[in-house]
Amino acid sequence: MAPPNEEIAVIGSSIAGLAVARVLADFGHPVTVFDRRRDFRDDGFGICLPQTVYINAIGEGLITGQLPVFTLTRRRWLRKDARTRRSVELWDQEVAPSVVALRWSSLRDALASRVPRSVTQNHATARSVDIVGSRVRIEFADCAAQLFDHVVGADGVHSVVRSAQIPVTPRLASYRCWRGTITSYTPPAGIRVHDGITIVFDGGHLVAYPVPGPAGAAVLNWVLYSSRHEEAVDVEDALPSDWAELIDLARAGPFPVRDLELPQNAMERHLLVGDAASITRPHTASGASKALTDAMTLRRLLHGYGDIDSSRRAFADLRIPAGNELVHLGRRLGRSQVESTPAWNTMNAETLQAWAMATVAGADSYLYKEKLIGSGRKLRS
Ligand SMILES: Cc1cc2nc3c(=O)[nH]c(=O)nc-3n(C[C@H](O)[C@H](O)[C@H](O)COP(=O)(O)OP(=O)(O)OC[C@H]3O[C@@H](n4cnc5c(N)ncnc54)[C@H](O)[C@@H]3O)c2cc1C
Repeated sequence: MAPPNEEIAVIGSSIAGLAVARVLADFGHPVTVFDRRRDFRDDGFGICLPQTVYINAIGEGLITGQLPVFTLTRRRWLRKDARTRRSVELWDQEVAPSVVALRWSSLRDALASRVPRSVTQNHATARSVDIVGSRVRIEFADCAAQLFDHVVGADGVHSVVRSAQIPVTPRLASYRCWRGTITSYTPPAGIRVHDGITIVFDGGHLVAYPVPGPAGAAVLNWVLYSSRHEEAVDVEDALPSDWAELIDLARAGPFPVRDLELPQNAMERHLLVGDAASITRPHTASGASKALTDAMTLRRLLHGYGDIDSSRRAFADLRIPAGNELVHLGRRLGRSQVESTPAWNTMNAETLQAWAMATVAGADSYLYKEKLIGSGRKLRS
């Protein structure tokens, strides 16, 4: 068994990079983290984590249990009534097990606070990664090249580490999204402040959920997806009037929606985690969960195998298919919720539940599980 003294570079110090740096350092490896960003300022954006991933991350010491989170237990599916312009509720979905919603920056800060002092953190932009003999040589844009025994690519969607090994590029979806936050969020009538919201319309939907703001009050995070190709969606046309008043698309996009399936390559001395591996469309709300689960899986494998090479190979065997399953789920969700939407005015709680189950099609992802959509749960329309 190799001694735990192999030098490891982690490129990227966001969710995946910090979680994996912590795990590798726990096994006694000298770890150096590089990030091109100096400033991880709070832009207010939120993420959802399934309760199970959140609790496991606390249990493994990756984050503290004191994070400000909201627990979401209901997802309200709404549509606009064409005549009255008001909301019609299609489905008051019970989300069980529940989901925690929090600010992206509070998760990143929590991970950063748990990275041991033994981990060196540098501000540098990786430009290229090559195998040189039995080592990995990393060239940086802003400092001298360095040699390591292994490199972890945690450098996100446009990963330099990934492209050094695999000639794949992210694929654009046929539609785009707009993304924003509402800081003084007072929910429209009939909606509770901690409800998750999905408002469906022809050719897209709006998904929204609250996260605790810096002062604890609810900040509503929203993403609107539309297959229409005009510069801006007409929110008055798409959304019930009380929601159209809240959602301002100016300066909120449009942003491209991407994904990437990762081939099962043997990547010598490389490990890809988080969005540097596969990329799933945001409908699956699983990027941060996947990043944390990557780190927790690596910990189990290092426990089992003891050495990095065997753990790295087993990691690829487990995590590449799991990531690709999320990519396929994201595509199915995009098709059913944006590209080819049903006639919403014919749907009710029962037909919507059946439609959601058919889209998930047995996939076992983080937020989309058949059992989470819930057969036999009380339906209210
Ligand atoms: C609209 C939207 C909604 C989402 N909602 C959710 C949600 O509800 N739940 C959820 O779990 N996920 C969600 N996600 C996904 C989630 O935000 C990401 O998947 C997650 O943050 C990925 O973390 P990461 O560490 O892999 O990558 P990133 O957070 O992208 O971090 C990559 C890091 O690498 C650094 N870097 C990049 N290139 C280099 C380089 N060459 N050299 C040095 N450093 C480099 C960057 O500066 C960055 O800090 C959403 C995403 C979007 C777009």
